[in-house]
Amino acid sequence: MPSPFSLEPLEGVFQQMRSLEERTGRVLCSNAGEFKVGDQLYSVPRMRYCDGAADDPLRIGIFGSIHGDEPVGAYALIEFFAELAQNEQDTCGYDLVGYPVCNPTGFAKKTRDNHDGKDLNREFWRGSTQEEVRILEKEILARNFHGIISLHADDTSEGIYGFVQGAALYHDLLRPALKSAGAFLPVNGAAEIDGFTAFDGLIRDCYPGVLSTHPELEIKPFELIFETPGKEPLHRQITATKSFLYSVLRNYRSFISYAQNL
Ligand SMILES: [Zn+2]
Repeated sequence: MPSPFSLEPLEGVFQQMRSLEERTGRVLCSNAGEFKVGDQLYSVPRMRYCDGAADDPLRIGIFGSIHGDEPVGAYALIEFFAELAQNEQDTCGYDLVGYPVCNPTGFAKKTRDNHDGKDLNREFWRGSTQEEVRILEKEILARNFHGIISLHADDTSEGIYGFVQGAALYHDLLRPALKSAGAFLPVNGAAEIDGFTAFDGLIRDCYPGVLSTHPELEIKPFELIFETPGKEPLHRQITATKSFLYSVLRNYRSFISYAQNL
């Protein structure tokens, strides 16, 4: 049976990942898991960059393109991982795992939903039978991340904005990261975004079922969602997203060392 849609966008990502692994020698690329749709095999790709000198590195999971029509997450993550080896000051003490394409069939079709018509970002921790969700839930449980960051684009927004689950890191993490990304794209200053109350692009709430940690974990990681205005040129969205990520790495490390010294 012929493939129902073009695999070119996915193959492009895999090719970039392979060249990234060869060029840097420090980024390991693999698959978090595979699944079949008809005769076609798909995989959820994974990249890892670890500060080998750190005793107990801070584990951060970064998730892109869970909505298949938001390619910025995938391309920003590939560029971000490609640069990490040259930014050792920022990556010191970290074990970073990136999932550039969380929804491979949607990415190939350029649709928000997956091949089965499901918005995967409403399926987490609800007993979903979607293979992509099962693969990612397993990863999230096994890796026990200190922090989870999801990358999105919103083509109804004129500016960047972000969600944080829980208030603790609102000031220390999300606010400075949005400010940093705000050097490249305007911040959405609306009092309500996507049905949520917002202030300076910051939202302290979320939809149920979004990609997140297991709801019953005792010690919760920080969870951030970053949204870029989807109609802006892709390269500007990528630059803003990378700036957001670097800011989170810098501020989370100092937040943790401050907390440990209390
Ligand atoms: Zn999205």
